[in-house]
Amino acid sequence: MSFEPRKLWRSFAFRLSLWYALIFAVSAGVLLLLIYYLVASALQRKDQEIILSKLKEYAAIYAADGARVLQARAVQENKPADDKSFYVKLTSPQLSLSVEVAPNGWAGFFSLEKHWNQFEINRTPKDAEKDFTWTRAKMFDGALLVIGRITNNREMLWQSFCQTALPTGVAVALLGLVFGAFLSHRAMLPVRQIVATARDILRTGLLDARVPTRPSHDELDEMVRLFNAMLDKEQALIRAMRESMDNVAHDLRTPLTRLRGSAELAVRDHADPAAMREALADCVEESDRVLSMIKTLMDIAEAEAGTMRLELRTVDLCQLIREVVEMYEYVAEEKKIKVTADLPPSCEASVDATRMRQAFGNLLDNALKYTPGGGAVTITASRQPGRAVVRFGDTGIGIPPDEQGRIWERLYRGDKSRSQRGLGLGLSVVKAVVEAHAGAATVASAAGQGSEFTVTLPAAKTETVAA
Ligand code: ADP
Repeated sequence: MSFEPRKLWRSFAFRLSLWYALIFAVSAGVLLLLIYYLVASALQRKDQEIILSKLKEYAAIYAADGARVLQARAVQENKPADDKSFYVKLTSPQLSLSVEVAPNGWAGFFSLEKHWNQFEINRTPKDAEKDFTWTRAKMFDGALLVIGRITNNREMLWQSFCQTALPTGVAVALLGLVFGAFLSHRAMLPVRQIVATARDILRTGLLDARVPTRPSHDELDEMVRLFNAMLDKEQALIRAMRESMDNVAHDLRTPLTRLRGSAELAVRDHADPAAMREALADCVEESDRVLSMIKTLMDIAEAEAGTMRLELRTVDLCQLIREVVEMYEYVAEEKKIKVTADLPPSCEASVDATRMRQAFGNLLDNALKYTPGGGAVTITASRQPGRAVVRFGDTGIGIPPDEQGRIWERLYRGDKSRSQRGLGLGLSVVKAVVEAHAGAATVASAAGQGSEFTVTLPAAKTETVAA
């Protein structure tokens, strides 16, 4: 596997970890600077406190016992070889004795006159490593007592700080970058798998590929599951569309072949006028059938796009049901199915009569289609507070529970229904029409025990409405 810097830079995982490492480095830097500042000021404060207390101590000795005793004490306490020793200087133009006790290399370093006007605690750098921190006070007789001490230079502290903190920080940031990149790369595996799967699908045109799932239940895993579910759905839809196209082609071929045959008959030279008229009448009938199929498909498209227009009128649903039953009387008789319509005298609702007739027609058509000969279909209608309820019950093949949620989908056909004619569009028309009326269509069924489809519609408003 070759290493490509451009590819690495383009990788989201790498850039993410680089950002994290940068943020970490900046925050760690700020934190270390703060710590350095606090430590340096605490050390400085401590130095100052020690020097001040020594100044007070020696001033008290000078006041009580004079310069000689102070000198003896200073010599006894402070060894020139010891860096921790104090620098002590007592001086005055009138004083015969001038005291100076200093650590090695510091004698005479401090020129009092130069600093005559400074009264605060001072730091005077001597060399790169050492500072001299000192203070002084005027004694009761005008003499000046100076106390100082060698203190570590701040730069030294800064240097040792840099020598340890900086390499450690850089190492930790690099380690964070490498491990972060590794972990992010691993975490992004599902995303890369989704990309690879999508690329495969685009390349081959086959929707069979799926992204492997993991047992973890994080967001990425959820995304993979949804992606796979989306592919399942797409695949099922495409399969259903193909089947439906086959069905449409098959269903259109028969009337179109008949249409062509009749037209051929009509245009024959020696056809007599009566046969010609009959052939033309057949042509009209077959064209009507083809047109109605195409219209159903367009209705579905319209309903799916949400642009279905309704001519709402207050309509007696019982009357509509009677018309539909009459329309299917012949089919029911042929299959020897007993159709019973148990209807109240009237049941008004505000509906588009044509669309609702189509929806009821589809429900009755299905009930007759999926009920074996000798069965029964019962239609009931009732007024309930604020709504009208119509039920289509049958003693047919029923619908297994796993299919009940899907039968309303466009182009879906149940497994056991394939031997029957149909496009898988009937129930989606019912659902679209009923929902466009602000109603609901539901099913209760068990395989082999018949089905009951229920349509609930809002009750009629007093005025006539047009949508
Ligand atoms: P089609 O009847 O053309 O297949 P529909 O959309 O009308 O399409 O119905 C979808 C599916 O619902 C049918 O294929 C069938 O499996 C099931 N179905 C609908 N009505 C009934 C019913 N009354 N009894 C049993 N199954 C039904």
